[in-house]
Amino acid sequence: EQLANQIAAGEVVERPASVVKELVENAVDAGSTTVDITIEEGGLAFIRVADNGYGIEAGDIATAFQRHATSKIATSSDLFRIASLGFRGEALPSIAAVSRLECVSADSSSGLARRIVIEGGAITADEPANSPQGTDMTVKDLFYNTPARLKYMKAIQTELGHISDYVNRIALAHPGIAFTFKHNGNVLLRTLGTGDRLQVIAAVYGSNTAKVMLPVEAENSDYELRGFISKPELTRANRNGITAIVNGRYIRSHAVNQALMQAYHTLLPINRYPLAVLEIGMHPGLLDVNVHPSKMEVRFSKEADLRSLIEDAVKQVLSRQRH
Ligand code: ADP
Ligand code: MG
Repeated sequence: EQLANQIAAGEVVERPASVVKELVENAVDAGSTTVDITIEEGGLAFIRVADNGYGIEAGDIATAFQRHATSKIATSSDLFRIASLGFRGEALPSIAAVSRLECVSADSSSGLARRIVIEGGAITADEPANSPQGTDMTVKDLFYNTPARLKYMKAIQTELGHISDYVNRIALAHPGIAFTFKHNGNVLLRTLGTGDRLQVIAAVYGSNTAKVMLPVEAENSDYELRGFISKPELTRANRNGITAIVNGRYIRSHAVNQALMQAYHTLLPINRYPLAVLEIGMHPGLLDVNVHPSKMEVRFSKEADLRSLIEDAVKQVLSRQRH
């Protein structure tokens, strides 16, 4: 069991950013309206994610740290219509296997809180606690018991870069959630949770950038598209300015990138890319997210249709803007 957790940890917990991703996605899945993320030393020393979501029932808290304990899939056919961000029940046991983890959670129905501490996979405390509604997860000394993994960690700035990138994108994906992100005491991102995506774009990229973003909206019978794209005068040196969000999940998609680039094709100089935040909604049955444990890759059932929806919508917005 402990070994299985360490093996799974190798897949799920590649670096501090993976821990932040899993904890924040759990917070989002729990219906939180505020999520506070605090890290130290690029996340290697300290990661804390505190949310105000529905919490973990006191009686379930130890179970949540067992492998494949997910409250998010009822039957195996549910795997084909996954709507929440998590679904494998691998994250918490994997993280707890390679760190010192403390979880304090109070669930919304009973109001009872419980605290559990797990060090290198072994429970060292499990007791009643006092806490406002929500879940507070602290992960210290990541990889302290897996020195081979620790050795692969890059400079603090590099790890911070990965975390910051992820936090920015999950904030862009969920403008209705107020995110705060602090590193070594400095606030790096604060969003208001008002649902205004332009506010989040301003918080992430600056208010001058937000001013040159154009709204896009389109739909066909299978897909809904909405978001913002940059005017062609605002270009970037790489594709990192493209954020694709599929059913609330930030993903990397070659198909989405291609469709966008195709639409900007004649407008951008060579080797320049647009900035875009595109949210794509669809029936979960049209989406296969079960490609990789990190859940970054997806497959679309009707990829060609989606590509033309994006390409046409973006082209239309860009040409309207030039007239
Ligand atoms: P998954 O997200 O795939 O279900 P995890 O290992 O990430 O698996 O979490 C296990 C379970 O713990 C979740 O299914 C959920 O019930 C509970 N849980 C974890 N984090 C939170 C949180 N922040 N708020 C409420 N419940 C949580
Ligand atoms: Mg999860």
